Amino acid sequence: MTYIGRFAPSPTGPLHFGSLVAALASWLDARAAGGRWLLRMEDLDRARAHTGAAREILRQLERLGLGWDGPVSYQSARTASYEHSLEQLQRAGVVYACGCTRQEIADSTLAIDGSRIYPGTCRNGIAPGRRARTLRLRTTAAPIRFHDRLQGELTQSVAREVGDFVLRRADGAPAYQLAVVVDDADQGVTDVVRGADLLDSTPRQILLQQLLGLPTPRYLHVPVALDAAGEKLSKQSGAVSADAPDLERALAFLGHAPPGPMPARELLDWARRHWDPARIPRQRAIRA
Ligand code: GLU
Repeated sequence: MTYIGRFAPSPTGPLHFGSLVAALASWLDARAAGGRWLLRMEDLDRARAHTGAAREILRQLERLGLGWDGPVSYQSARTASYEHSLEQLQRAGVVYACGCTRQEIADSTLAIDGSRIYPGTCRNGIAPGRRARTLRLRTTAAPIRFHDRLQGELTQSVAREVGDFVLRRADGAPAYQLAVVVDDADQGVTDVVRGADLLDSTPRQILLQQLLGLPTPRYLHVPVALDAAGEKLSKQSGAVSADAPDLERALAFLGHAPPGPMPARELLDWARRHWDPARIPRQRAIRA
């Protein structure tokens, strides 16, 4: 069996308990399958990403014993590939320029149903006197169905539940949804294991794979760690020192509490041998 997994952190700060859980789950799933585990820095957001954080994440992974295969890939160095795929979509006639500001969308969307569904304002052209800010995908209502290895069968109509989403942002950067699809395909990723906060993004990614003629990987979305207030753990609330106790906690969170205290290396070895995704709680979020 060919297995290529990956961990794709956004280097906006050091790993915290939530991102450690995602790293550990994807590492274990890859290593238990005898597969490769790639590392990709999702550093397209220039305002938020910084090289210090990328270096810190690499140090933390090394310290935990979560080794990766091959060179680390940086999205900031791959914009030509994203532009190439964007042109492919443009030639297929499924891309349009949008002049709406974030504020305008938030307003009109809230007025309709309280969510952030793009109302389609620029679908048939930008109003006179307005300039193009973003590029959006013209979505269709046909539902996207997929099977998640933990969360089960899921269905979403991207057009109805998300709306025409952004492919190129107002600052010129490719959007996460496009970059992740292009990278997973270019790197031959067969298995995406990540936090369930990205479950609702998956149909958008599958839709793009279909439009670009790319294969769809298998997906496994593990629960997201919440703090005591029920909020997603942040860099502040979930700080980790990347040592054995953190690994032990993350394993317990994933339903793989070790039988007793062990040094970090043995912990990982034990977990790799006992890894069984059926033991992961089938939930989207859990208090850590
Ligand atoms: N960069 C994303 C994050 O840190 C993860 C993207 C992915 O795994 O597809 O949340």
